[in-house]
Amino acid sequence: MTPSQQPHDDDKRAWWHGALIDALRDAWALLMPVECAGCERVDRALCDECARRLVAQPSIHSTPQHLAVHYALRYEGRARRVLLAFKNHHRTDLARALSTSFLPALLQAIDAASSSDPATHPVQIVAVPSSRGAFRTRGYHPMALILRAAGVRHARVLRVAQETRSQKLLSAQQRADNVHGAFIATHSLAGIRVIIVDDVLTTGATIDEAARAISAAGATVVGAATIGFTPRKLTVRDIASGEGYGMEKGAK
Ligand SMILES: [Zn+2]
Repeated sequence: MTPSQQPHDDDKRAWWHGALIDALRDAWALLMPVECAGCERVDRALCDECARRLVAQPSIHSTPQHLAVHYALRYEGRARRVLLAFKNHHRTDLARALSTSFLPALLQAIDAASSSDPATHPVQIVAVPSSRGAFRTRGYHPMALILRAAGVRHARVLRVAQETRSQKLLSAQQRADNVHGAFIATHSLAGIRVIIVDDVLTTGATIDEAARAISAAGATVVGAATIGFTPRKLTVRDIASGEGYGMEKGAK
């Protein structure tokens, strides 16, 4: 490994910082009564009714660049509130429940990749990265927590090359233009097959940009998986809640 391939010291410190905050928040949640993240009733972190709404119903949607994305849930109603609480309101205690929702979609993506090309290398899982600003604000990377809770190893081979402006009010084409060049691979990925994972699929522009960066480093992107999918436009209420992309790669 050359010096340029060593994980950056700042990244290591940020990771430890995030892990410490996670541990403290989990301990706090054990001591204090919590509201259900899906319906706000004082209950467990997730009441039985909301847990039922998180049962995966894996389906597929294609990105503008025709990459198949396997998603677990429609991003609406209680599932949406749970995901937002997890991403933007520090409810890291929901990682395990969300990982249970996500896993069937990920397994479907892996199955599809294996059946289309069974003889070649195993696949590596790569999460769409957060910006440094988003990581500092949140203290954790949502998909990294989901993957850890699911017991899935992933390769940290993408980083944010340039910050992008908020995606929230942009059309599909504007989103694609906005994120172009947003990511870069940290080293050569020649000969590797990759499945990209992210929390929510909207237009697919972000996943397409991740795929572009991964392909540019020599890997073959064979699929993608997300927890949620929403084809709809985001509303003013979503914007107020800090949902979407941008700094945001913050809410990303
Ligand atoms: Zn509930």
